[in-house]
Amino acid sequence: MTKLVVGSATDVGMVRSNNQDQYLVAPGLYAVADGMGGHAAGEVASQTAIEALRSAFEQRTSHTPASLVEAAKQANKAVWDRSRANRGMMGMGTTLVALGVVEDDDGSNGMAIAHIGDSRVYVFRDGALSQLTTDHSLVQELVDDGQISAEEATVHPQRHVLTRALGVEPSVQVDLINLSPQHGDRYLLCSDGLPREASSDQISAVLARFADPSEAAKELVSLANTRGGSDNVTVVVVDVMANDATGETLTVVSGPASTSPGSTPLPLGAIATDATVQSPVPVAALGTSVGAAAGGAQQQLGAPSGRAAKNRHQRGPGRSPRPITLRVVAFLLVFCLVVGGAIAGLAWYARSTYYVTISHGHITIFQGRPGGVLWFGPTLAERTRYTAGSVLASDALLLRQGQLEDSLHDARAYIARLLAKKRAAQQASHPSTTTTTGPPPKKRRTTTSSVATTSPTTPTTKARKPAPNSAAPTAPPA
Ligand code: MG
Repeated sequence: MTKLVVGSATDVGMVRSNNQDQYLVAPGLYAVADGMGGHAAGEVASQTAIEALRSAFEQRTSHTPASLVEAAKQANKAVWDRSRANRGMMGMGTTLVALGVVEDDDGSNGMAIAHIGDSRVYVFRDGALSQLTTDHSLVQELVDDGQISAEEATVHPQRHVLTRALGVEPSVQVDLINLSPQHGDRYLLCSDGLPREASSDQISAVLARFADPSEAAKELVSLANTRGGSDNVTVVVVDVMANDATGETLTVVSGPASTSPGSTPLPLGAIATDATVQSPVPVAALGTSVGAAAGGAQQQLGAPSGRAAKNRHQRGPGRSPRPITLRVVAFLLVFCLVVGGAIAGLAWYARSTYYVTISHGHITIFQGRPGGVLWFGPTLAERTRYTAGSVLASDALLLRQGQLEDSLHDARAYIARLLAKKRAAQQASHPSTTTTTGPPPKKRRTTTSSVATTSPTTPTTKARKPAPNSAAPTAPPA
């Protein structure tokens, strides 16, 4: 009799905010899925795939390599249907590696792998690590074509581009690998977060050092995080504890019961030691431990080119377009209102007053404030025929600095007062002349004010409407 003992672990990693990986540890069936899609879609894709895979596999009365492939195709359909039913999940997908205990054609028992994407299955046998699956990725094609080395592939800018994924099309081609397990074999299922950070030698060293599969799984996840943890990382380790060469039935034997942090207990009959180290999304019906979601690996269709380009799926942080949410619209609206209100208030402050000064040699009225306020400069309101000599020297000094008035009417009245003040001073210094030749002071002041600033028929007063683009002398010449 052959016994399988399983350990598993998953973690969000050191960079991503959510875990879109998910794994399955169920009787005779082990799987890892690495979801792709914006927001929570990647999580939904991997969870949907795992649920459908297990459901389809368990519904079969006999488990064969073909039924494992069929289960994977059912998983593809489930993800595809779900993405079609939800606009926010359009384009989501997932990788999938599934290791199942199956009956071979001759009735003997063995194991098989169903594979889509760049999650991997390795076998650790006699101290050597061998990769059993071949990535469905662009860089793998470049390596196969001899264009880049395997080492260059690990840092290639397009290493995220998949050439095959589950759930992104109505049907999918599933790679099938038949296995002949041997006593002592250790099968390693993992998402790309592990090989992205750790070399084969480093993975081998961990598998050789930790006999307990649960401890080995935890250590591999820790290794990936120690070396950067740029992606979600998920590991399932399946140990074959007896030789099946005699044709004895492969039997799945439950290991010690355990639960994932924050998860529900594994159902009776589930396998092995579960060493999930990151709080997973509980999937009670599956007995799985799950990593979830947004901000992690994301997917969008890549531009097709070259071999197998018609079916490429690019993933990576921040590559999925984010829909404009109601919250974003509300924020923009409030932002515009606040900014618009501030600008309007500033404009009112800058334009709500007038000032009198001497500009181009004449006493002039401007609308605005001397020097302007930010980009709201003063504009010419009226230029009189009077010069600095028309008022007292002391008043002329004040005028050059600008005299603020609340309105155009007040500005005109202010000028009239200055002119009258000057005439009064002249009369005081030449009383006989004033008495015999000039009109009464009060009448002259009134007439002068009216003529100088308000009468539309007065040729000496030049009035303009405020113009936004009018030149606004901020330092009027004396
Ligand atoms: Mg990944």
